[in-house]
Amino acid sequence: MSRFVDRVVIHVAAGAGGNGCASVHREKFKPLGGPDGGNGGRGGDVVLVVDPSVHTLLDFHFRPNATATHGKQGQGANRDGAMGEDLELRVPDGTVVMTEDGEVVADLVGNGTRFIAAEGGRGGLGNASLASKARKAPGFALLGEPGETRDLVLELKSVADVGLLGFPSAGKSSLISVLSAARPKIADYPFTTLVPNLGVITAGATIFTMADVPGLIPGASEGKGLGLDFLRHIERCAVLVHVVDCATYEADRDPLSDVDALEQELARYTPSLGGDLADRPRVVVLNKIDVPEAKELAELVRPELEARGLPVFEISTASREGLRELTFALGKVVEDYRAAQPVQEATRVVIRPTAVDDAGFTVVEDPENEGGFIVRGERPDRWVRQTAFDNDEAVGYLADRLARLGVEEKLAKMGAVPGCAVTVGGVTFDWEPSTPAGIAIMMTGRGTDARLERNERIGASERMVAKKARRAPGEYGDYAEIGDDEE
Ligand code: GDP
Ligand code: MG
Repeated sequence: MSRFVDRVVIHVAAGAGGNGCASVHREKFKPLGGPDGGNGGRGGDVVLVVDPSVHTLLDFHFRPNATATHGKQGQGANRDGAMGEDLELRVPDGTVVMTEDGEVVADLVGNGTRFIAAEGGRGGLGNASLASKARKAPGFALLGEPGETRDLVLELKSVADVGLLGFPSAGKSSLISVLSAARPKIADYPFTTLVPNLGVITAGATIFTMADVPGLIPGASEGKGLGLDFLRHIERCAVLVHVVDCATYEADRDPLSDVDALEQELARYTPSLGGDLADRPRVVVLNKIDVPEAKELAELVRPELEARGLPVFEISTASREGLRELTFALGKVVEDYRAAQPVQEATRVVIRPTAVDDAGFTVVEDPENEGGFIVRGERPDRWVRQTAFDNDEAVGYLADRLARLGVEEKLAKMGAVPGCAVTVGGVTFDWEPSTPAGIAIMMTGRGTDARLERNERIGASERMVAKKARRAPGEYGDYAEIGDDEE
């Protein structure tokens, strides 16, 4: 049996930013000119876009990995690298985006609604952009940042006003087809409906949609049939309609027990968009009354259902009896429900929470490193990622940025002593506070970051150079006028 794909896990990877370029302008017979290294291009985003022509998440089932392209490196002669291309993934209306823990990050409703699933990395600045009055020819450039990678769960929750519940072959697809222009597949065997059909129905001035979703059978919550998959589709419905087959030949079934069985399944379901299905209005449709025995049965059970407070309609999709009355009654329930809802914009996108205290940083004692500290903050992390640790000038620039943010001062206040281990952005440094301006950070072999391995190869003499350079801050200037890329 084919699978009803309305829930998939996708892996999205945005493009990395291109590295900045360190280059010096050269011309024949002329002295060396200024720095002319261009900036790296931004990596492409992975974007989810609601597309009305897409109705299932099936494509993602076969291709769950999506990667946007990287930004290109900057080049000499002030040429910036090209930006990576955004990758657009088309999703059906009503797709809910969640983390693997089930936290809803976006609810994509409305054609054209967009959601950045993974953000491309920034490109690194080239040395032309890093030049300042005090440091005319920087011998380094910033690295591009990696693109975001995420695992996301996509769930389809159809956007329908009326949800049809019912055993397989009760006549749900038939009902939609006779009430609307939709032409769902109709057949006399279970599970003909593998993707929800959506019909648009007009009742006077009211226009509403009706979703026909795969059949639900008792025990679905234990994995029978199509499981509880289909219940996701009715979360947004204004009214739930029980379509009951009054002409079934199955001995152990009758309209009352059918309704009870489906209600039991509903009660087991916890809507991920919040709320409770229990308070959603119900309507019972007794179908197939063109069959004489069915008509008799319908009349027999009707009082019992009405005694439970349920509005009951006897219909036949074959002879079209009772359809008009049902249509207008549903239109009325939908109108009432809409009127009771708070006003909603066409698109509902939950913006991902931005990192707390983006501009600042925190320092905490390192629980795993006696006497050590961990510096956390969006900018310090980013600065570390942008640093080419095999270039002392680049490391000096990082030290200076951190110092200017106040990291050194804070470390000193918290009791950091020379030589203690300070971890920033996953990279551990020896703290060298001896220099007047900026912290002198020297690489150690600690940590597990791949970049560290590179840095272990820096020779002792090079370290000394780096240290000396930082003792004479004038040589580098204070970078204050760079303005930095601290957006
Ligand atoms: P679904 O599984 O609930 O979508 O059911 P379908 O709409 O596919 O219908 C299942 C079977 O019941 C089909 O063979 C239909 O022709 C039949 N059927 C649907 N409505 C009626 C009706 O009002 N009267 C009769 N006699 N048969 C019907
Ligand atoms: Mg069907």
